[in-house]
Amino acid sequence: MTASFVIAPPPQAAIAVQGDDKMFPVRRVWCVGRNYLEHIRELGNDERNPPFFFAKHADMIAPDGATVPYPTLTKDMQHEVELIVALKSGGLNIPADKALDHVWGYGVSVDLTRRDLQTISRKKEQPWEIGKSFDMSAPSGALVPAEKVGPLTKGKIWLSVNGTERQKGDLSEMIWNIAEIIAKLSLQVELGAGDVILTGTPAGVAALNPGDKVEAGIDGVGTLTFAIGQPK
Ligand code: MN
Repeated sequence: MTASFVIAPPPQAAIAVQGDDKMFPVRRVWCVGRNYLEHIRELGNDERNPPFFFAKHADMIAPDGATVPYPTLTKDMQHEVELIVALKSGGLNIPADKALDHVWGYGVSVDLTRRDLQTISRKKEQPWEIGKSFDMSAPSGALVPAEKVGPLTKGKIWLSVNGTERQKGDLSEMIWNIAEIIAKLSLQVELGAGDVILTGTPAGVAALNPGDKVEAGIDGVGTLTFAIGQPK
């Protein structure tokens, strides 16, 4: 039986696919906190704590080429370039040695962060939503299927603003690798097709302002460009 709805259902959140008219439908957006040592150090966090997960809503993804209005409530929105891992299947308690079987593809995303609000939340031991979860807070480039990328154990990950490089790292520096992240997250929720995971950011996070043009990329995966617009 096809469900019917009392209001028009909202559009399916999705990310473009390189070289394909078809899009990747997004179910949930998970993000890894603290997965590169130099970034943990630059924010003054405890290096011995394991990474952990927070979420954004699927419709907070913005497409390649978007102009993201400068968000409300913040005076310090920052960029965090991250590898996206997109799942075609899932499960609970996935062993790490089977985790990559669930990957559909990879892409480049930026975890936009209202750092001032995140910092206040952290100090008050409150949830991170106000810092991390806002409209268009995950600009995401086109995904590429895993079979075209091959094993993804290394590769430069970078971000520049107005032509000046701000973030530079290598996927080999991730504290937890892709398989370990999927395995760990699957202990917490049952993962499923359409789930995407942003796998943490290297050092160099800094503020963005209206008018900024952002370019980001991961060697062997793809690129992403977006701009910051005036507040709505
Ligand atoms: Mn992040």
